[in-house]
Amino acid sequence: MKKIGIFGGSFNPIHIGHLILAQEVQHKAGLQKVLFIRTADNPLKEKDSEETKAERYEMTRMAIEDNENFAISDIEVRSTGYSYTIDTVKKLMAADPEAQYYFLCGEDIIFQLERWKDFEELFRLVIFVVTYRPGYDFEKLRVEAQRLKQMYGANIEILQAPLIEISSTTIRERVKQNISVRYLVTEKVHDYIKDKRLYLE
Ligand code: ATP
Repeated sequence: MKKIGIFGGSFNPIHIGHLILAQEVQHKAGLQKVLFIRTADNPLKEKDSEETKAERYEMTRMAIEDNENFAISDIEVRSTGYSYTIDTVKKLMAADPEAQYYFLCGEDIIFQLERWKDFEELFRLVIFVVTYRPGYDFEKLRVEAQRLKQMYGANIEILQAPLIEISSTTIRERVKQNISVRYLVTEKVHDYIKDKRLYLE
């Protein structure tokens, strides 16, 4: 059966922590493709301007273009307003009903899942593949995954990936403070941030 990864994020900007996670899961779970989805507005985060959303999309596109196992989906680019993972997953499934979908995420996401729209249905539709993230408690993740399995029958696989202590927030803060982000993002993304003078305020 075709296995497809869905990797959603604000990607503001996309950094090497995202790329290493996706590469590791793609390889270890044997996924044919990982679809990067630059999310529209997240009901749990602040709204973004259209310009910022376009820039996040462009940086994501640039960061993955040389990896044949990665692709970018514009599914949420076309949606206006808030986007919900369940709706995105259903649209993808309608386009390719034969595939098994894997939802890639870092461990912070696992603790928010019960706040997501129709999360119980989402648990039935996708397999979650979670990687550890520095600064979080590994044991707490195992306990939470077990609880979600027992309570909702969720499919959650925990996978080891290199620990990369980077977040988009730290990238934005570094740029603002004029500290280099070279090698924390790909070269093209680095140049794009500079050219567009992003994150300076
Ligand atoms: P921000 O700092 O703006 O909240 P972020 O770095 O957490 O952003 P997102 O785009 O919100 O990035 O994250 C998308 C996905 O990537 C989430 O599932 C998140 O857990 C995961 N992720 C981001 N950075 C890392 C990292 N360094 N290690 C493991 N997972 C990560």
